[in-house]
Amino acid sequence: MNINTKIIHGYPMIDEKTGASSIPKIQASTFHQKDLSATQKYTYSRFGNPTVEAMEQAVAALENGEFGIAFSSGVAAISSVLLLLSARDHIVLCQNIYGGTYQIVVNLLDSFNIEYTFVEEMPASNWEEVIKENTKMIYMETPSNPTLKITDIQAVSAIAKEKDIITVCDNTFMTPYYQNPLDLGVDIVIHSGTKFLNGHSDVVAGIVVTNDVIQNQRIVNQRTILGGILGVEDAWLLMRGIKTLGVRMERSEYNALLISSVLNRNDNVKKVYHPSLNSHYGRKTHTRQARGFGSVLSFELENVAAVENFLQKVTIPLVGVSLGGVETILSYPWSMSHGGMTEEEKMTRQVTPELIRLSVGIEDVADLIMDLEQALQ
Ligand SMILES: *Cc1c(COP(=O)(O)O)cnc(C)c1O
Repeated sequence: MNINTKIIHGYPMIDEKTGASSIPKIQASTFHQKDLSATQKYTYSRFGNPTVEAMEQAVAALENGEFGIAFSSGVAAISSVLLLLSARDHIVLCQNIYGGTYQIVVNLLDSFNIEYTFVEEMPASNWEEVIKENTKMIYMETPSNPTLKITDIQAVSAIAKEKDIITVCDNTFMTPYYQNPLDLGVDIVIHSGTKFLNGHSDVVAGIVVTNDVIQNQRIVNQRTILGGILGVEDAWLLMRGIKTLGVRMERSEYNALLISSVLNRNDNVKKVYHPSLNSHYGRKTHTRQARGFGSVLSFELENVAAVENFLQKVTIPLVGVSLGGVETILSYPWSMSHGGMTEEEKMTRQVTPELIRLSVGIEDVADLIMDLEQALQ
C-alpha cells in the first residue's frame, strides 16, 4: 500500500461494533470489571484507552512500526524515553535540538547524575568519537529545530547497533510522510503530535513508535508510572488530523520550496536554512534518507531591529510558538523555542537574535510571498 492510501486505510479506522466511519470516543476513566479473577483489556484509562489505542495504531502503521505509545505532549514522550536511563549512564545527542529536549537533558537528567554529550551532527564519525563505556542511548533529531541540521540516520544507527546502544530519533519535522527512521535502523521514533501529525494547531500531543518489544514495554510502564497520558478527545482529533497528512505535507512543502528560493534571492535576507537549498550542508544525506524537504525553514535578517520591523509588518502568518499547522507560523527561536538556553549555548547552535523560523502553511503561496516581500522591504 502506498503512503497516501495507507494514511486513510492502513490501520483500523472503522468501528468494529457499529461500522461507524470514525473511531468512537470512549470518554471513560474506568471500566466495569465483571469478574475479578478474569483479565480484561481495559481497566483504567491511564493504563490504556480504546480511542487512544486506535490513534497509536494509526501512527505506528504510518511509521512501519508495531507499537505506538501516546503521550500528553511531545515533551512528555521525550522525557519518558530519556528517563529510561539510569544514574551514571551516558547519552549522546545532536547539538542542534529542540529547546525543550535540551532543557530535559541539562536540567533533569543532569540532576539524576546522567551524563550527556552534544555533538555536531555531521559527519557521523563525530558520534562514534564521543561514545563511552557507559553510553546507553543516542538521540537524533533530523532535520533539527530551528536550523535544519542533518544527521545521517543510517550511519549513526549502524555505529550504535555495533555497540548495543539504543537509538532514538525525533521525526517531528518530516513526519512518516517523508521519513521513516525505523526503516533506517532507529529503535525508537518520537513525534510531537502537536505539529504536522495533527496539523490544525488545536491539540498538544506526543507519540512514540517502536518495533522493539522490550523497549515498548519499558516505555508503556514509564507512561503508566509518570502519568503523561493523552486525553481521549485529543487522541480523536489527532486521528482526524492525520487523515489529511499527505495533502497538507505536499501543499505546505510546495509553498516552502518557492518561499525558500524567494527569500534566498532577497537582498534583505542574510541567510536561509532549508534542506532544499543547494547551499544547505547535509542536503545530500537528507535526500538519501527522506522523500521530501518539509515546510519548516529559517532565515536571518541583518539585525534585531529588522526582525522587529518584519514581525510587525507581516499580515498573514500567525506570530508565535509552534509549527506544522495549516496556517503559516512565524517564530522567534531566540526567545521562544530556545529561550531556555544561555546566549552562549544558542550562539553555538546558530540560534542568533537575527534568526526567524517560518513554518509554511497551506495558504496560496502568491499571497504569502507578497506578504513576506512587503514586510522585508
Ligand atoms: C514542538 C516540538 C517538540 C515538543 O513537542 P510538544 O508537543 O510541544 O511538547 C519536540 N520536538 C520538536 C522537533 C518539536 O518541534
